[in-house]
Amino acid sequence: MSDHDPNCIFCKIIAGQIPSRKAYEDEHLLSFHDINPWAPVHVLVIPKRHIATLADIGPGDQELMGRMLALAPRLMRELGVDNGFRTLINTGKDGMQEVYHLHMHVIGGPRPWAKG
Ligand code: 5GP
Ligand code: ZN
Repeated sequence: MSDHDPNCIFCKIIAGQIPSRKAYEDEHLLSFHDINPWAPVHVLVIPKRHIATLADIGPGDQELMGRMLALAPRLMRELGVDNGFRTLINTGKDGMQEVYHLHMHVIGGPRPWAKG
């Protein structure tokens, strides 16, 4: 599998061909704000290498997955989220995945309409 899929919308965001509001970037990962946020803070964390779904990761991707997960609390702190957040990875058709480039949703911020 190639690192970059020219037909993939998130690969285009990585390449700067589609604009995004970036929250974080390093050699391995990119994070940007979701275009259709479900909460005051809603970012996506993606690997720069094109991996279609969580079901497609291999044994060599354990460090990458650790990096993605470890970025979540750091990002939330930097974005002023101080009362908890959700992390979510949709995988495949029954997992409601819409964009086939592995991504983790990180969702936080006050939601006065939510119970509790
Ligand atoms: P999925 O259902 O695949 O887990 O979620 C895909 C997410 O990507 C959705 O929340 C959707 O709003 C977001 N998204 C899709 N296209 C774009 C885009 O071009 N830019 C940004 N920033 N987010 C996008
Ligand atoms: Zn991609």
